[in-house]
Amino acid sequence: MKITILGSGTSGGVPLIGCDCKVCVSDNPKNKRTRVSVLVEIEGKKLLIDTSPDLRQQALANKFSTVDAILYTHAHADHAHGIDETRAFNVNSRKPLDCYGDAETLSELGRKFDYAFKPPVPRLGWFRPALVANIVEPGKKFQAAGIEVMPFLQDHGVAGMTLGFRIGNFAYSTDLNSIPQESLAILRGLDTWVVDCLQYKPHPTHAHVELVINWARMLSPRQAILTHMSHNIEYETIKASLPPGMTPGYDGMVLEVR
Ligand SMILES: [Zn+2]
Ligand SMILES: [Zn+2]
Ligand SMILES: [Zn+2]
Repeated sequence: MKITILGSGTSGGVPLIGCDCKVCVSDNPKNKRTRVSVLVEIEGKKLLIDTSPDLRQQALANKFSTVDAILYTHAHADHAHGIDETRAFNVNSRKPLDCYGDAETLSELGRKFDYAFKPPVPRLGWFRPALVANIVEPGKKFQAAGIEVMPFLQDHGVAGMTLGFRIGNFAYSTDLNSIPQESLAILRGLDTWVVDCLQYKPHPTHAHVELVINWARMLSPRQAILTHMSHNIEYETIKASLPPGMTPGYDGMVLEVR
């Protein structure tokens, strides 16, 4: 299984519009972060987690032209508002695209982007996205494009709940600041864990550096990769300061999962 970090940045991206802090003006490409998303490639299938507002640039930069399914963590703008770009996947694969999320997320997406969930009209071609909504429940395995996925509940603080996903020995946990007991069991025995780490200070909806270090110590994946980082985090500085087995992600990073 191969994981590509398509985007590693928080909701405003890095650089932030109008900011001249040292991270935002840094020349290091690893300090340039589009909004969070990952591509999972397994058994010849591609699963996309979230449709970042930067999805178009991410697909071009990482050279993929179709995906086989989309998994939604939640409906926040930084995770969902690239939904219109999925039309390109319909065009290239000539079929509707299955997406998976919990009932609340799919109903919010359906309300905001109703046109994307309407059935295709063959005589008009792929003039809008053609997504098929599939509701999943935390703690109940499902198949996406024939790949087994375990969704689990995460606490996004005052923003509500999100879904994390475990696929084989890989798990993706973004937008959380605490982990419910029942989800901890699902996160044990991982090889690779991509996890939310917004900044150094505690935050009402996101994980911070010390918290993620404690989680990684408790769950002991072979490698923990930080994502959803703000301009508060400088790539080389944090890389040098993390314990063994932990490293900051960056856009375009490729991970082999054992
Ligand atoms: Zn900045
Ligand atoms: Zn969120
Ligand atoms: Zn987010």
